[in-house]
Amino acid sequence: MSDCLFCKIVEGTIPARKVYEDDRVVAFHDIQPQAPVHLLVIPKKHIASINDGTPEDVELLGRTLLAAQQVAREAGLAENGYRLVNNCGKDSGQIVFHLHWHVLGGEKLGALNV
Ligand code: IMP
Repeated sequence: MSDCLFCKIVEGTIPARKVYEDDRVVAFHDIQPQAPVHLLVIPKKHIASINDGTPEDVELLGRTLLAAQQVAREAGLAENGYRLVNNCGKDSGQIVFHLHWHVLGGEKLGALNV
């Protein structure tokens, strides 16, 4: 999508500190980290939010999760754990409307009341 920030990162027209890339998924450092490790994992395909995923995206969404697992492991988070966060829609605080998983870790994270 031409006006989507993360599509531009996929295309390479906006730079990012990429930590993972395959034919369908990219992961990179968040520009405003909220934890010592804060990575974003996205499908290359433009899907605005998890709300917009369809049955045809099942494999792709699974691949984003496995990529999150891989980048978390490579960032040294596997032993102590990490948090995967997805904001979906305006009430959640989603700012960039290209589906992404936040991978947060590297310290003891605050409790979530969920
Ligand atoms: P959201 O609130 O779940 O949509 O999170 C969007 C995230 O994208 C925020 O954590 C931002 O810091 C991050 N972000 C915005 N622009 C960029 C960028 O150009 N590169 C990397 N991360 C970005």
